[in-house]
Amino acid sequence: MRWKTSTICSGNSHSIPIKHLPIKEREVFKEVAASLEEQAFTEAWGQKAKALFSDALMDTFVNPDLKKLISKINVLGPANLPTAERERYNTILSQMDSIYSKAQVCPPAEKCWSLEPELTDIMATSRSYKKLLYAWEGWHNASGVPLRSLYPQFVELSNSASKMDGFKDTGDYWRSWYDSPTFEQDLETLFKQLEPLYQNLHAFVRRKLYDYYGSKYINLKGPIPAHLLGNMWSQTWNNIYNMMVPFPDKPSIDVTHTMVDKGYNATHMFRVSEEFFTSLGLIEMPPEFWDKSMLEKPTDGRDVVCHASAWDFYNRKDFRIKQCTTVTMEQLFTVHHEMGHIEYYLQYKDQPVSYRGGANPGFHEAVGDVLSLSVSTPKHLHTIGLLDQVTDDAESDINYLLKMALEKIAFLPFGYLIDQWRWGVFSGQTPPERYNAEWWYLR
Ligand SMILES: [Zn+2]
Repeated sequence: MRWKTSTICSGNSHSIPIKHLPIKEREVFKEVAASLEEQAFTEAWGQKAKALFSDALMDTFVNPDLKKLISKINVLGPANLPTAERERYNTILSQMDSIYSKAQVCPPAEKCWSLEPELTDIMATSRSYKKLLYAWEGWHNASGVPLRSLYPQFVELSNSASKMDGFKDTGDYWRSWYDSPTFEQDLETLFKQLEPLYQNLHAFVRRKLYDYYGSKYINLKGPIPAHLLGNMWSQTWNNIYNMMVPFPDKPSIDVTHTMVDKGYNATHMFRVSEEFFTSLGLIEMPPEFWDKSMLEKPTDGRDVVCHASAWDFYNRKDFRIKQCTTVTMEQLFTVHHEMGHIEYYLQYKDQPVSYRGGANPGFHEAVGDVLSLSVSTPKHLHTIGLLDQVTDDAESDINYLLKMALEKIAFLPFGYLIDQWRWGVFSGQTPPERYNAEWWYLR
C-alpha cells in the first residue's frame, strides 16, 4: 500500500452525527464482526502469554529471539479495549473506510466521479485549472468533511489501547516498529540532506507551471497550488511530466499508449510483473492469487476501496492483491510494487505468525519499490517490448532522471509530513481544532 491521505479544505468544520451517516449497515457489520473476531483471538493468546511470561521473567531471558517473539504476542493493540469501546473503535474504522470508498464528486448534469477511475484520471490528465480545482475541492469535501468528526474519536480510542500496551500514545507505538531510539532525529537529518535537491525540483516545476498557467495562478515565490501536480494528494508529480520534459525532442519514455495499442489488460499486467519476479529467481504467484485477487474494479455495484493493497491471509497459501487496475504505465509500476509485497509474504510464510511481517513497515514498502525501480528503466521497458528504442545519451538520461525525481524525490517530504502530522495528532500536540491548520503548516 502506498501512503495516501485526505485533508479538509479550510472553512468546512461542520460535523455529521454518526447515526445520520449514509452507511450500508450490513457491510459495516460484517467488517466489524471480522475485526472483533481477530481481536478476541489476539486477546486470548495475549492474556495467556502475559500470564506465563511476566516482565520480571522476560528480563531474565537470554535468547533475544524468544524475547522478541513473546513481546510481540504481548502487544494487544485494540484488543486491550473493553467490549463496548472495542466495538466503537471497529465501527468508527469501518465507517471511515466506507466514507472514503464512497466519496464522489457530482458535476451538474453528468455521471458522478469516483476517486477511481474518474477523479484520478482527471487529476493526472486535465490541464484546466478550474476543472482540477473543482475535482480536488469536491473530493476533499466529500471524503474529508464527513470523516472529520470520527477521526478524533478514533485517535482517543487508539491511544487508550496503545497506553495499555505501555506506550505513550499510538504514534509512540508506531515508531517502536523501527527499533531506533533516535528515529525522529534520523528522519529529520535525512530530510535536511534531501532538502536542497527537493527545493531545486520544486522551483523547476513551479517555473514550468508558471509558463503554462501564468501569473494569475502561479506565484513564483510561493507554494504550488496542490491540485496542479497530477495527483489528488500531490504526493507524486510524475503525471505532469509531459509539461516538464527538459528535452522534448528525445523519444518519449511514457509507454501508456504502447500498452493500450498492444492490448494490455489487468491480468496481462500482473503476468508481466510475475515474469519479472520469477526471472530474478523469486517465487511465482500461487494459484489462490490468480483465483481470489481483485485485479479490476467490480462492475456489480459493490463499493470497494480501490486504493491498491496486498494481503497475507496467514495460511501460507492465500495471498491476494486488491487493485482497480487500469492500463497505464503508472499502474504497471503499482502492480510491481504490490506484487513486491506478495513476494515478501511468500518469503516469510513459514516463520512463526509473529514474525510474518516486514522488518518494519518502511522496509515492506521498499521491497516492491526497489524492484520496480529497475522495471521503469528504458532498458527494461525495451526488453519487454514496450519501448522501441533505447536512446543512450545525456539528454535522454536527464529526461528519465527528472521523471524519476517527480515520482520519488517529490514523495519523500510528503511521506515524512504524513508521519509528523499523525504523531502530533496522537500525542495531543495537535488538537482536533488544529488538524487542518497543522496539515497546511507542514505542507
Ligand atoms: Zn505498498
